[in-house]
Amino acid sequence: MAEGYEIIDHTYDVIVVGAGGAGLRATLGMTAAGLKTACITKVFPTRSHTVAAQGGVGASLGNMAEDKWEWHMYDTVKGSDWLGDQDAIEYMCRNAVPAVYELEHFGVPFSRTEEGKIYQRPFGGHMSNYGEAPVERACAAADRTGHAILHTLYQQSLKHGAEFFVEYIAIDLIMDDDGECRGVIAWNLDDGTIHRFRARQTVMATGGYGRAYFSCTSAHTCTGDGNGMVARAGLPLQDHEFVQFHPTGIYGSGCLITEGARGEGGYLTNSEGERFMERYAPTAKDLASRDVVSRSMTVEIREGRGVGAENDYIYLHLEHLGSEVLWERLPGITETAKIFAGVDATKEPIPVLPTVHYNMGGIPTNHHGEALRPTADDPDAVCDGLMAIGECACASVHGANRLGTNSLLDIVVFGRAAAIRAAELVTPGATQKELPKDSADLALSRLDKLRNANGSKKTSEIRLAMQRTMQNNAAVFRTTEVLTEGCQKIMEVDASLADINVADKSLIWNSDLVEALELENLMACAKATMFSAEARQESRGAHAHEDHPDRDDEVWMKHTLATIGDDGKVSLSYRPVHTWTLTDEVDYIEPKERVY
Ligand SMILES: Cc1cc2nc3c(=O)[nH]c(=O)nc-3n(C[C@H](O)[C@H](O)[C@H](O)COP(=O)(O)OP(=O)(O)OC[C@H]3O[C@@H](n4cnc5c(N)ncnc54)[C@H](O)[C@@H]3O)c2cc1C
Repeated sequence: MAEGYEIIDHTYDVIVVGAGGAGLRATLGMTAAGLKTACITKVFPTRSHTVAAQGGVGASLGNMAEDKWEWHMYDTVKGSDWLGDQDAIEYMCRNAVPAVYELEHFGVPFSRTEEGKIYQRPFGGHMSNYGEAPVERACAAADRTGHAILHTLYQQSLKHGAEFFVEYIAIDLIMDDDGECRGVIAWNLDDGTIHRFRARQTVMATGGYGRAYFSCTSAHTCTGDGNGMVARAGLPLQDHEFVQFHPTGIYGSGCLITEGARGEGGYLTNSEGERFMERYAPTAKDLASRDVVSRSMTVEIREGRGVGAENDYIYLHLEHLGSEVLWERLPGITETAKIFAGVDATKEPIPVLPTVHYNMGGIPTNHHGEALRPTADDPDAVCDGLMAIGECACASVHGANRLGTNSLLDIVVFGRAAAIRAAELVTPGATQKELPKDSADLALSRLDKLRNANGSKKTSEIRLAMQRTMQNNAAVFRTTEVLTEGCQKIMEVDASLADINVADKSLIWNSDLVEALELENLMACAKATMFSAEARQESRGAHAHEDHPDRDDEVWMKHTLATIGDDGKVSLSYRPVHTWTLTDEVDYIEPKERVY
């Protein structure tokens, strides 16, 4: 074991790693249930990526037009291209309405209708009456919904007396010989101390891994740390091949222009000034599902109808909405367009391009937020002591493609579900078994190895090589050739980690070391994504395979499980999609062709 580290021990009933929307909703629920709960976070809670969410949280409140949670469920199943688990989807959509009212009562300052109800706007793939016409389902606080939710949840957590360990980075899980998760090892960035958190349940709420790609809308902190920790514990990652490209990242910077902009009436045009989405999705048009719009834009550009000197982007028009609507409903993105594209959105179109935005895959869980350790006999077997919620998890409610607004919903619904489950599983203050003697070894040997890494390559150099490989070889459209090359290239980049150089050896505010730890996590995510994509010989949701353009339910309606061995190699297995619902109030929705 690595010597010379001072370890400070803590015992809690529950540890939550992450203070985004998912982590905070779980933390406050667990604290309120009387469980001694610690929330560990590498950034200050209100700086978590949830703060950047713009467009809204989905729930069939029906404030603007008739809506039903059953329609929301249908849209989510269809959006998932039938890869989502319908029991989990039922749970989420049924609980959406109470979840949003709970947020309202917690104090989220939603925008309002004339009558004072929560304001709702249309969003991609949200339709009334089982796919008939777009419906207003996104509950919005202007275009700063995530900001409003995250701040409110943090205030509520403080009100309930939750304990925070801020600017502590979790390094690795503590697993015992029975395969049970017993806690986590974290490093306090401020004073360099190492902390061993022992708990009955450890909840991963660490967010997505957008930063595995070169151009993404996610924060620099979205580095898949939870996924990396779980992979190093020998547990599988599910459905990593499904990476969502958001149609409207600003050309050049990748900053997001919310889909709410199209919800408010914005539309896309090509170099001929044509509203081309009418050709690809006659009913939903610009409000088709994200994968559909991103692919259509890519085809337009490929066929030479992109805008600009290089014909390599698309225009998003909002100017016809008028400055009053823009400043009231979309103030944030009007500002973003000015700063990052130099465009006055009230007068001219915004140059946009599909940009990596969300990870549908992650740590497999059931609808209680319990992490899975699937076996051949029991594909739904639970890993004791471990839970996962939010973007790092795969419940799986988003399947092969997430609908906009369903992630803010996912984080509050499953954050709450995890708190309910933990309260059932854990008796407050119950004595805990001794930890294994080697409980800190995995984490500290990793930390030590990187601290003493004197190779020839900077972290940023290896990271860039990884990001470029992902951007080129696991993009909107994929082919066998490109993916095979991608697997080979990503393994080469992975091997170059052995030659990494971490110049700063300190344990105090050493961002060089933090970035090296994060890079290892990103690399695990990247490898799982590339190999899972290479194996899946069909097109479904965000995975558009040009050599296998059709969805193949016979062979491929199953979840991918990617496990990373000690040798760094990825091995794949599969588990069935849940083809049942939770209650008999709704029937299983049979697969059919997905058109918008
Ligand atoms: C620009 C943008 C706009 C979006 N807009 C919408 C929208 O309008 N509607 C919608 O539904 N979805 C939207 N999404 C998606 C949605 O916001 C995210 O999926 C969701 O907020 C993720 O929440 P989370 O709690 O899982 O993770 P995050 O909010 O990313 O939080 C992760 C937390 O984990 C902590 N953490 C990570 N690693 C470690 C570690 N090693 N040790 C300790 N702590 C760690 C971080 O400090 C942080 O607190 C948007 C996403 C982006 C990027």
